[in-house]
Amino acid sequence: MVELARPLPAARVRKAPEGHGTPVPFTRTYISPEAGRAVLDVLATGWITSGQQVVDFEDEFARYVSADEAVAVSSCTAALELSLRALQLPPRSKVLMSTMTFCGAAAAIAHAGHLAVLADVDDVTGMPSPATAAAAARECGGVDALVVIHLAGLPTDVAAIAEAAGVPLHHVVEDAAHALGTWVGQTPVGSISRATCFSFYATKNLPIGEGGMVTTDDPDLAARIRQMRLHGMSKDAWRRYLPGGGWRYDVAVDGIKANMTDVQAAMGRAQLRCFDQMQTRRRAVAARYDAALAWVPGLRLPPRPVDGTHAWHLYAVRVLPDYRVGRDELIDRLRERGIGTSVHFIPVHQLSWYRGQCLQPAAGLPGADGVFERTLSLPMDAIISDAEVDAVCAALAEEGRAS
Ligand SMILES: *Cc1c(COP(=O)(O)O)cnc(C)c1O
Repeated sequence: MVELARPLPAARVRKAPEGHGTPVPFTRTYISPEAGRAVLDVLATGWITSGQQVVDFEDEFARYVSADEAVAVSSCTAALELSLRALQLPPRSKVLMSTMTFCGAAAAIAHAGHLAVLADVDDVTGMPSPATAAAAARECGGVDALVVIHLAGLPTDVAAIAEAAGVPLHHVVEDAAHALGTWVGQTPVGSISRATCFSFYATKNLPIGEGGMVTTDDPDLAARIRQMRLHGMSKDAWRRYLPGGGWRYDVAVDGIKANMTDVQAAMGRAQLRCFDQMQTRRRAVAARYDAALAWVPGLRLPPRPVDGTHAWHLYAVRVLPDYRVGRDELIDRLRERGIGTSVHFIPVHQLSWYRGQCLQPAAGLPGADGVFERTLSLPMDAIISDAEVDAVCAALAEEGRAS
């Protein structure tokens, strides 16, 4: 990747309210000046929906994650739904997923016509282990497919989870919304399973605002998703208007409306050019948190990859029982100091709609319930300053000290 000649800009530090330390937002979106200029260039061409920019973004993205094909879509949720539909499983197939994830994955499974089976998670990683995946699959009499998450950007051993769940790798879809730039061992996420789905939502590591991508090494799967993302039409508008393109098209498959625009793609191409630099900053921020928070009793630091590379989408600590205040009270106290935090995630089985929609083990999902009670995501983005990280660490140390 090309490195930008100049460093990322320092975050603008807002003035602290009277009597408070440095306010730090939970996350800030960095849009490079090049991305802004690319958008204006696209607007000037007059072609603003899906066109050549999308084709070029797909090519560059596929190359970045070492996949043969990339298909740009409107969101990661759409990417997951289209990938699952493209597997062409029988209706109401059972699809195993972590309960500790964003509800979009459960929505995608339901909208693809399937049944989500929720797996419990390991206390340290917050993700299904081979044991919890196997248990959930066994209890519902076996599953047909699997959605794997790399929570926070921590790589999951996709093959090990698939084997434990009894699902062949060609029925595995990865939810890599947190994991652009993650490697599982020697393999970049994006070229491991049948289809890998990425998000370009405003807070994600490669922010566009909205947008998603599917990468795959299967040209037939890519072709099906390409057709399904635009109503199932045999030719999109771009191809109909190309020289030699005719006005006729057919609709031979059941599609949805989930294409990406050239405006988004142009931003994405520019953002991808400074992505490595943004990731370098996230790694440095994680290291700075690790070094300062290792001394704070009652906080457990996020796990490091056993084998592979972390994308550091989130930096989530666990607030243990021996910390002076509970997780919820800590959130309030940090908010009073102007420090934004978040919780990832409210488990899917605790959301009232999905409780009735998903299969789950009769004994419940105690691992996820426990992680949910104690997890706390600290401010993390590509432009947070060292002073801001230090302010967060100082606040955590102070709140943890009995006064
Ligand atoms: C953000 C997110 C999604 C959804 O991404 P969209 O692009 O907003 O649809 C899916 N899964 C996880 C784990 C996410 O964090």
